[in-house]
Amino acid sequence: MNRTIVLASNNAGKLKEFGELLGPLGFNLRTQGEFNVPEAEEPHPTFVENALAKARHASRLTGLPALADDSGVCANALGGAPGVLSARFAGEPRSDLRNNRKLIEELAAQADKSAYYYCVLVLVRHADDPQPVIAEGRWDGDIVAEPRGQGGFGYDPHFWLPSLQKTAAELSAQEKNRMSHRGQALRVLVEKLR
Ligand code: IMP
Repeated sequence: MNRTIVLASNNAGKLKEFGELLGPLGFNLRTQGEFNVPEAEEPHPTFVENALAKARHASRLTGLPALADDSGVCANALGGAPGVLSARFAGEPRSDLRNNRKLIEELAAQADKSAYYYCVLVLVRHADDPQPVIAEGRWDGDIVAEPRGQGGFGYDPHFWLPSLQKTAAELSAQEKNRMSHRGQALRVLVEKLR
């Protein structure tokens, strides 16, 4: 049986992270770039719609099962913003520094600094799969104005974990994977595929 899955992303970090958990189940993960699949549009207001659009697009163009993820940070006082706009919250060109600054400015007047990272993974067996496999993960914290730590990426230096008294950028990659929204979603997906 062909157990190749196309990853609807060209991110080498994601290929490694996802491949480590899916490889032992007999799945061979390959990036969409290997099949010359161009990036899909992500025009939707919800994570799950964007992930589904990306997975369908990769599956349609390759004829193979496809896995896509979508993630971001959601501030409770901002109605879930930046949400699906996390990567380009402060506009183009994309900049973590400007995104972080904008988030802190928007939260400055708010008493509630709580936020969560969210990740959804969508696997389609074929482009018109009526029953995609969907797995979610959520990681709660607070947004702090002062950045701390050198690890991670994106909003991590400002994502404070009260139970650890650290930001996400102060965790090792292994610690982050154990707790993060992406790690959680991936483990849920693996359980569903078993
Ligand atoms: P994507 O799902 O890779 O497109 O990520 C969307 C955006 O959400 C990223 O560009 C980051 O701004 C933010 N984001 C998602 N996951 C994380 C994380 O683990 N740490 C920091 N920022 C994240």
